[in-house]
Amino acid sequence: MWRNWRKSRDEQKSKELRDELVCSICLDSFKDPVILDCGHSYCQACITKCWGASGTGLCPQCRKPLPKRELRPNKSLEEAVNIARGLDEECEKHEEVLKFFCKEDRTLVCRVCRESREHRAHTVIPIEAAAEEFKVGHLRRNPRRG
Ligand SMILES: [Zn+2]
Ligand SMILES: [Zn+2]
Ligand SMILES: [Zn+2]
Ligand SMILES: [Zn+2]
Repeated sequence: MWRNWRKSRDEQKSKELRDELVCSICLDSFKDPVILDCGHSYCQACITKCWGASGTGLCPQCRKPLPKRELRPNKSLEEAVNIARGLDEECEKHEEVLKFFCKEDRTLVCRVCRESREHRAHTVIPIEAAAEEFKVGHLRRNPRRG
């Protein structure tokens, strides 16, 4: 077991990250996430379906009535989902795990990319840190995060 502790810790991390980036209606990764007035986010298709023809209703999570149909795209959440998805993937160029996020290019890069001339002058941060940054808006009201 000790041999794999590092790997399993990484897996645990990416699992946690993904769990937080799941729509509570379809229980899958957000697709075109929208944010409601109460601060909760859902896939656009999910909340639209959930509310039906009236186009308005309660927030399925906090039951807050939302009289106005107001679905604002949650771009930062969408970005966090893309980043979390990258945790499973490898760099096409170097076949290395994508562990970093280049803030300039807004793209995922591997260890080798990071050292390359292309990104050396760029701000490159660990993928978990990037996802944290992007999901701040989404999880602002999450009590676990204070
Ligand atoms: Zn959904
Ligand atoms: Zn809510
Ligand atoms: Zn690479
Ligand atoms: Zn770059």
